[in-house]
Amino acid sequence: MDYEDSLERALSETPEVGDAVDRFQVPDPEVRPEGNVTIYENFEATYDRLNRDQGHLLKFLQSELGTSASIDDRGRARFTGDFRQSRVADAIDEYVESFVTCSECRSPDTRLVEERGATVLKCDACGALSAVPDL
Ligand SMILES: [Zn+2]
Repeated sequence: MDYEDSLERALSETPEVGDAVDRFQVPDPEVRPEGNVTIYENFEATYDRLNRDQGHLLKFLQSELGTSASIDDRGRARFTGDFRQSRVADAIDEYVESFVTCSECRSPDTRLVEERGATVLKCDACGALSAVPDL
């Protein structure tokens, strides 16, 4: 309780509420072509940092990039086709915006939970529930 009180006070006294969110660093995608496949080298570090299920993130990237993908035995994602690093980085930004960042307080401290059969984003910082796009 004391912690929450002081946290609330700290937040209300700080004009730059977005500071904590700005410090949320998602690893830049390290991608390289291999034949007709694009390898996402640090895929594991990325979903780990985002605290999301690898299958969920992979499904999103497949849909964003419009291709098929798989995860290899080293935890790397492999996309069929040639994708530039910037394209993958944009897709990750999109994922963070839709499935990680709280729409109310912009905290990344969130979880995907099931509510009445639908997946929603639950914020551990402010308690808000927000809708997420269907995958
Ligand atoms: Zn929130």
